[in-house]
Amino acid sequence: MKRNRITSRKRMSSDATELGRLAICLAESGGKLEKSFWEEQLAGLIDKSLHESAEDDLNASLDRLFDSHAAAHDALADMIESRVESCVFPHQGQDFDILLFNAPILAWSRFSIPAGTIPKSTLDNLKVHLGAHVFSAGAQIALVDYLFSPDQLPRSFVDTWQLMRNLGNAALQNNTLQLDVASLPETNPFLSDTRYLLGAIAVPHGTALFRWNETDDVTRESALKEWVKQGSPCIEPLLTGCSFQALLADAYHAACRTADIASRPYSLRASVAFLQTTLGKPAETLRAVIGGFHDKRLEEYRIGFGPRENDNIVHGVIWPLLGAEDENTDVVGEVETILRESGIKEIIVHDQQFPFEFCDDCGAPLYPNAEGETVHAELPDPETLPSQTLH
Ligand SMILES: [Zn+2]
Repeated sequence: MKRNRITSRKRMSSDATELGRLAICLAESGGKLEKSFWEEQLAGLIDKSLHESAEDDLNASLDRLFDSHAAAHDALADMIESRVESCVFPHQGQDFDILLFNAPILAWSRFSIPAGTIPKSTLDNLKVHLGAHVFSAGAQIALVDYLFSPDQLPRSFVDTWQLMRNLGNAALQNNTLQLDVASLPETNPFLSDTRYLLGAIAVPHGTALFRWNETDDVTRESALKEWVKQGSPCIEPLLTGCSFQALLADAYHAACRTADIASRPYSLRASVAFLQTTLGKPAETLRAVIGGFHDKRLEEYRIGFGPRENDNIVHGVIWPLLGAEDENTDVVGEVETILRESGIKEIIVHDQQFPFEFCDDCGAPLYPNAEGETVHAELPDPETLPSQTLH
């Protein structure tokens, strides 16, 4: 007899439950052979979920494992990222490996940092330099004709996977992917921010992806050096009025993480440079105040900047904790080193736990001052200055 069941939106679907089970089996497997057995099962179910746009199943199983089984959570997260950013496409009787890549660019400006459509000639040049210095000789490359801000990157696993497939097809056809820009959210202005050049490569199945996979002469470091040297002049017209630093193109998720890590010291240095030009005073006239901000746990460090002669905070930077970092990570030491390298002589570090607070009126984060209070950062003459909020 068919029974009516009370359905709950929170109930795990059978696929979500199975994803969790397979991830635990994978995490707990001993030898490589058993691992690859479970990997294949898990990859198959993730692919099915992506094809069915079952984003909720992926997230539900990740959420459940986050609370119950850290190793299985990480195994599932790794496998989802891998299935989302790569696949094998048959094309004209041959199999091709497709990889979604991301070439991040760190930038800062007293004015706004552009994001937007990339002209065809620039796109062609970028493709030439990526092909020559970053990707293998056999890689066919397709780029999106758009410079993304963080708010505009694909939001979900399914969206990212779809982009990978579209770009993979474009790479096999030697096309550019034209983005429907109407649906993209507006970019929030920050003093320092990241921009992303997205694309995909297609290589014959099982062959080299990157330059440094092909020969001992090229390393990741030397490839980055060449990309910075040759690629930067192509990027320059896209980022008028900005200082910028190109990072190495890599698999999509790895490149996003590299950019998140690199953007923290970059923002800090950018802030000191910004304050020197804006206030017209050298770095040694500034004081930096560092404090840890806690919600349920330590969420981030906030660094307030002000003149040494009074207790005003004129600017602030957030240093978010990433990955497994926590209060035992020596973030303060790293922040102090960067500040001293930037010319700041007076640094105050507060031991107290600051509350994870934002301004009630405008939502801006509050920063610590020398007295150990949290305050709004206010530049002396806001009329003539750009947004003072930083990532
Ligand atoms: Zn405010």
